[in-house]
Amino acid sequence: MTKKIFALRIDLESFKGIKKGLPKILDLLKKYRIKASFYIPMGGESNILELIRYRKELSNATERKIKVLSKIEMLRMVLFPKDFVRENQKILRRIILEGHELGIHGWKHRAWTRGLEEININKHLDLAINKYKKIFGVYPDSFAAPAFNTNKKVIEILDRKKILVISDLEGEKPFKIKGTGIINVPITINGENNSPIIEYLATKGCSDNEIINYLKEKIKENKLATIYIHDIYECVNKISLLENLFVFLKKNKIQVKTIRQIAKNENPSN
Ligand SMILES: [Zn+2]
Repeated sequence: MTKKIFALRIDLESFKGIKKGLPKILDLLKKYRIKASFYIPMGGESNILELIRYRKELSNATERKIKVLSKIEMLRMVLFPKDFVRENQKILRRIILEGHELGIHGWKHRAWTRGLEEININKHLDLAINKYKKIFGVYPDSFAAPAFNTNKKVIEILDRKKILVISDLEGEKPFKIKGTGIINVPITINGENNSPIIEYLATKGCSDNEIINYLKEKIKENKLATIYIHDIYECVNKISLLENLFVFLKKNKIQVKTIRQIAKNENPSN
């Protein structure tokens, strides 16, 4: 295998996922000295007004089929939504301290995926960026749109706000978005409708063994292999599968880079 590149993107989207999944994946990444790219909705969980307001049905494929939250946890979220960023600052800072990337995944996930046409995108991004600066002391320059929900207007606003990297558009290799300073690093291995590949295959009934074999094949085929996973699912339930994947990457000397590093290669000036 020559000059293959792999990148792992991890979306953090729930209080439970950050509490249970994040420490596990950080420990595993440390053990294998692998750097990953994390993204987080800076506004935390949605409150009851947002739950009522943004209740448009999602397409079947974007709706999660695997049960990851108990009824009690769901009720807790409705009644007492948590600011999972503010409440988990310490472990979130560990992401940056250990050399990983942390980008923003919108302000509130639900409002972005179900109400992108209604929300004030500029305001949502300002809220996210300002809070990020306040908590982490640096400017976030990477962004991933919740559910890959993006459009021309979003990209224009991101460019104005000096976001340099996104991974929201499909493709096989990184590319500069015309007329902007933004590089898009695509997720090259995913399931139907851009669903996360491990969860997608598990939903289809594949065993961990079948999933890892599928990933190995795909990584061998693609010059750039990128996948994304979630705190609440893979980082809790699929840690041993991820460990097998890391062993495979090391054994085959596949370079593991962050999304930001890949973008930088594409456009060294940014
Ligand atoms: Zn998401």
